[in-house]
Amino acid sequence: MNARSTPGTHEHFQTSIRESRTLKVTSILERPYVIEKFSPNGKTIYEGFCVDLLDKLAEMLHFDYQLKIVKDNKYGEQINGTDQWDGMIGEILRGDADMAVAPITVTATRLEVIDFTDPFLQLGISMLMRQPGHKSTSSLTRFLYPLSESVWIYSLIATVLTSLIVNLAAVFSQKESAAEFNVLNSVWYLVCISLRAGSGYNCQAGATRFISTVWFTFTLILIAQYTANFAALLTIDRKSMPFHSFEELGNQSDYNFGAILGGSTMQFFKYSRIETFSRLWERMQSASPSVFVKTNHEGVQKVLAEKYVFLMESATLDYQVTQNCNLTRVGNVVLGSNGYSIGLPKGSKWREKLTRQILDLNEKGIILMLKNNWWKKTQTECEEALPSDNQIALGMENVYGLFLLLALGIGIGFLISVLENAYFVMLSKKKVPKKTKLEISVICEDA
Ligand code: ASP
Repeated sequence: MNARSTPGTHEHFQTSIRESRTLKVTSILERPYVIEKFSPNGKTIYEGFCVDLLDKLAEMLHFDYQLKIVKDNKYGEQINGTDQWDGMIGEILRGDADMAVAPITVTATRLEVIDFTDPFLQLGISMLMRQPGHKSTSSLTRFLYPLSESVWIYSLIATVLTSLIVNLAAVFSQKESAAEFNVLNSVWYLVCISLRAGSGYNCQAGATRFISTVWFTFTLILIAQYTANFAALLTIDRKSMPFHSFEELGNQSDYNFGAILGGSTMQFFKYSRIETFSRLWERMQSASPSVFVKTNHEGVQKVLAEKYVFLMESATLDYQVTQNCNLTRVGNVVLGSNGYSIGLPKGSKWREKLTRQILDLNEKGIILMLKNNWWKKTQTECEEALPSDNQIALGMENVYGLFLLLALGIGIGFLISVLENAYFVMLSKKKVPKKTKLEISVICEDA
């Protein structure tokens, strides 16, 4: 006979206390909190963050527990107009469970009927959506994406204008052949400079050389920007978020949105007096087919399958995002601050003990350790957060200075051509003395 079964011993006393302390715990199947598994001998076993937490609490407070999954798979909402509740809250109220250890959120209405410990996880409401793909999948025009439409148009205009100035400078200049640098040839000359190819033309005058240098600099920088952006585009297939806030979510009609039916998130929108949220609730309520789901898992599947935004709690959202690179949180929006707590019948003697242990586990960092075990990435790392394509396509605002530089350069080039011309006129006047009318007529006759 061992000490455990010897009446009167300390061990026997401990064992008998433990046995009288087998608590009925209700929970809900929700990753990574409670996950159902089958042992090799066919027995159902549970694992997950809440199971680990429960094990720790059971060990510290010397109780045993029997974990059961809530029958209706719900968190708990007051059944219309009655004082009955469904879900885990209902099970506690009916005495079917001694506590609920699950991702169950403390709300004012729930707190009226049951007790909660201090929270073991903090959270707010966020939006989960599918990682948006690229706006246009046409690979035919993809080479145009690095620069925005306006930059392409302005570059075209700049080419024509600059060639006109080159032509004008050539006409003015004594050193340049106006026939060689006619408008069409000037366009060809500038295009060849842009593409770093030889045009066969070589300018001689200071003005045309200056304009060519400015054009060379302009195209060099523009092409460098184009190349850099094209390289980025090839690795990026992401589009910007179609909305960034709850307000914007309510203003668009492309995406449906919803939450867990009867959950605290749904209740938040249902009872909110803030116009933005009540408008969201009205849309959710009137949507057909229904936008509500039973579990987070169902919500996530809906997000992946259709244009659907799932309003869910940030702690669970963070986990889902680590599991699937196609999922993303909309902006950094986290609405309110709430927590997951252990639910207990009103006046339960366990409330204080559990709260104390939760605080202790929190202070020692054990809860964080448990969380890190379950929230760790199981997939290969997702690509780094990438900028969206509208940030990538170089807008006019980015190259505005470059165009200004070109305009200034052309202006100076034109001025140089005028000065050059004046200089030549002056030189020719000095070198060639004016011929008399008689001399001219002799020359003509000779000819
Ligand atoms: N954790 C929530 C609840 O307790 C579920 C949700 O609405 O997201 O109801």
